[in-house]
Amino acid sequence: MADGASAPREYNICFTMHGIGVSGGIAIGHAHLFTGMSTEVDHYEVASYDVPREQRRYDRAVKEVKDELAGLAESVRASSASELASFVNVHLMLLEDSAFSEVPREIIKEERCNAEWALRLQLDELTAQFDDIEDEYLKERQNDVRQVAERVLAALAGSKRRIAVKPAREESAILVARDLSPADVILFREHHFAAFVTDLGGATSHTAIMARSLAIPAIVALHHARHLVREDELVIVDGDQGVVIVNPDRAVLAEYRLKQNQARIEKDKLKRLRTAPAATLDGTPVHLHANIELPSDLEAVRASGATGVGLFRSEFLFMNRRDLPDEDEQYEAYREVIEGMKGRPVTIRTLDIGADKALEGQEHDTENPALGLRAIRYCLAEPELFNTQLRAILRASRHGKAMILIPMLCSWNELTQSISAIARAKEELRTEGVKFDEYVPVGGMVEIPAAAIALPMFIRKLDFLSIGTNDLIQYTLAIDRTDDTVAHLYDPLHPAVLSLLHGVIRTAQQHEKPIAVCGEMAGDVELTRLLLGFGLRHFSMQPSSVLAVKQRVLGTSLPDIAPVVARVLRSEEPEKIRQILEKLNA
Ligand code: PEP
Ligand code: MG
Repeated sequence: MADGASAPREYNICFTMHGIGVSGGIAIGHAHLFTGMSTEVDHYEVASYDVPREQRRYDRAVKEVKDELAGLAESVRASSASELASFVNVHLMLLEDSAFSEVPREIIKEERCNAEWALRLQLDELTAQFDDIEDEYLKERQNDVRQVAERVLAALAGSKRRIAVKPAREESAILVARDLSPADVILFREHHFAAFVTDLGGATSHTAIMARSLAIPAIVALHHARHLVREDELVIVDGDQGVVIVNPDRAVLAEYRLKQNQARIEKDKLKRLRTAPAATLDGTPVHLHANIELPSDLEAVRASGATGVGLFRSEFLFMNRRDLPDEDEQYEAYREVIEGMKGRPVTIRTLDIGADKALEGQEHDTENPALGLRAIRYCLAEPELFNTQLRAILRASRHGKAMILIPMLCSWNELTQSISAIARAKEELRTEGVKFDEYVPVGGMVEIPAAAIALPMFIRKLDFLSIGTNDLIQYTLAIDRTDDTVAHLYDPLHPAVLSLLHGVIRTAQQHEKPIAVCGEMAGDVELTRLLLGFGLRHFSMQPSSVLAVKQRVLGTSLPDIAPVVARVLRSEEPEKIRQILEKLNA
């Protein structure tokens, strides 16, 4: 069956599918089948006298991509990232081939269609040819062909990627996709979809995290939704239970409308807690901060009552575009957030690119990206890019309370090199007479087991720590957080994970260093008491989770939970741990 086609079945038959609910709530709407942003294009006819112009438009886009790749090849030669060289060269060769340089031009003429559509037809043709190839190596080149086509399509669209879907009833549209990248989801912010469901994906993939930040219900790992659901069918998405109901009958529809209303009432009630200080029943203050991806998230942060930004995932400023944001553009973005938080702390994480958050054009350039040139490894391999970001953050630091957070720290060298890079950026600014906060705190993320186990090695050189549980779990349990086939094994309550978490929090306390959790565990209300019992006092989460977590904090007595949490730590069996946790939350 071709990608995107629906399976033959009787119309309007009611059926249910189960996946992983990654963002709670209930949505009721009409399905919109989403084929993926990158090669989704409009189709329109061009007049015969416009054909040469359309061909020139195509030629210009191809030339633009060639120039861009040639520039990239140049910088790859100059830098140490030599593994990129072959990928760039293959792409350049493909562009030279008549499959890209000639055939789409002919299609424009024959079909009298726009350049995007011609390229799309040619891509379909090439993809079909690849399907018949047996040789595994050659088959893999299919990815390169697709990426080259995507680059040319992006050039045709202009420098920034845009969402290519406009369902008629956007606000009640349920997006049904095979897979979505975090970059796709970030583009959804310009739209108001009711929910999205995908066939692939894991619970803490960045795509799932982005869904929570949009505060719309979302379900991943449904496996067959893209093939079974038809355009415009009525769909219920229950993000809490991970259930999708297609063509519900009247009784089911009425039941879910009722649930939807009750959820709305609950949500409104929670809003009353917005300004209440977060403290346990015994009066211990707890800091509830928010995670953001872009300055436009500030509104949600304010609405959540969060008292700081505990994680600004700065890499989202670098996504959905083919150029890099320069120092001034980054400075403006950081300043907007820092000023917007009015003196409250803003923790800006340095670029965490790689794994499932790829820069445009680098999506499939390594076999094992989660273990590859990611986060601080990438920044240290690209010193100029890192320096630009550090300068921008430092310049913005004078507008409020900024903190710098280094992702994926693993080795002593990375730590010392990062600190030297910050010192260098400061020195440059001093020489130029540019003001910044001389005492901007520098923290490190604990998200690789090596960092958790050898924490004393890092702790003395850092001002604070933040545990990235999403990656810490991924690397401790050797489970790809984006892979739906192992998603059921991704377990925050695994004794190894709990023991690492508890150990890290205790070590930080012994060294009197502030420590936060900024992974998804921090926003899971079922884990709030457990983390409080471990000694955690700083939580950072999606804005949409802050009020629910606050409610749980307000109803918790630390002396009461202490013995139950101690039992969790003594338990080795996962089932037992779950039982004790239930008791803890009762
Ligand atoms: C984490 O790994 O827990 C984290 C907060 O970082 P990210 O999810 O962006 O990898
Ligand atoms: Mg991480």
